Amino acid sequence: SRKIVVKLGSHVLSTEEGMPDREAIANIVEQIASLKKSGKQIIIVSSGAGICGVGAINKWSRRKDMNYKQALCAIGQVELMMAYKEFFAKYDIHVAQILLTRDDFSNSERELHIRNTLFTLIDEGVVPVINENDSVSVEEIKIGDNDNLSALTGNLWNADALVILSDIDGVFDKDPKKHKDAKLITEVRDIDALMEKIETGGVGSFGTGGIVTKLEAAKRAGEYGIPTILLNGMKKDAIIEAEKDMREGTAFLWD
Ligand code: ADP
Repeated sequence: SRKIVVKLGSHVLSTEEGMPDREAIANIVEQIASLKKSGKQIIIVSSGAGICGVGAINKWSRRKDMNYKQALCAIGQVELMMAYKEFFAKYDIHVAQILLTRDDFSNSERELHIRNTLFTLIDEGVVPVINENDSVSVEEIKIGDNDNLSALTGNLWNADALVILSDIDGVFDKDPKKHKDAKLITEVRDIDALMEKIETGGVGSFGTGGIVTKLEAAKRAGEYGIPTILLNGMKKDAIIEAEKDMREGTAFLWD
C-alpha cells in the first residue's frame, strides 16, 4: 500500500502526567520518515490534545464542562504540534495542521478543498496532522472521536490502508485491561458479527474512543474497501510491521 492514514491514540502519544511522550513520538516519527523515504505517503490523525492540555497548564481538569475541555484541547494541540515539528525536523520533514469537524465532510465543496489541500501538502512532502477542531465541535456537529475521523480521512483521500495505533494489541474478545485471559482476534471480515460476539466495555478516559469507535472506523473504511489494522503503538516498529503485510494485531480485511 502506498497511501497510509496513521491514527495515533492518546495513550500512545502522551504520558500519564499529560505531556507529549517524547520517546514515543520520536519512535513514531522515525518510522514515518523511513516509510516516506521508501515512497509511502502518510497522513497522521492525532489524538492526545486534551490530555496534553492538562499537562501543559499543570493541573488536572478541575472542571468537566465542555468549555473547559475545549480549552484544554486548544492548549494541548500546540504542545503536540510542537513535538511533531521538532522530531520531523530531524528528517527535514515539515508538518501541517488541519483541524476538521463533521460539517467538513458533509459539504462536497469543503471536502473538495480539504482533498486539494491534502494532495498539495503531500506532493510537497509534508506530513499533514489532522485532528478534530475541538474548539468549535459542540455535540451536535462533532465527529466525536479520531477513529471515525481517520476513516473519513482515509475515504476522502482514497487511502490504501488505515493503521490505528492504540495501547492494546488489537481487538480482543473482552477488554484485555480487565481480563487476563482475553483473546486477541487476528482477522476480521464481518464487523457486525464480531460486535455481537465480543465485550466492548465503555468509552475511553477522555470520554471518547474505546474499542467501539475503532470497529466503527474499520467498518467505515471497509465501505471504501480500505483495509484497516489495529495494533499496539507502543511497539518499536508498529507502523512498519503493519504496513509490510497488513497482518499485525487485528486485521480488518475486505475482498
Ligand atoms: P485510544 O486513545 O488509542 O483511542 P481508547 O482508550 O479510546 O484508545 O480505546 C482502547 C481501549 O479500549 C483499550 O485500552 C481497552 O481497555 C478498551 N477495550 C474495551 N473492550 C475491548 C476489547 N474487546 N478489545 C480491545 N480493547 C478493548
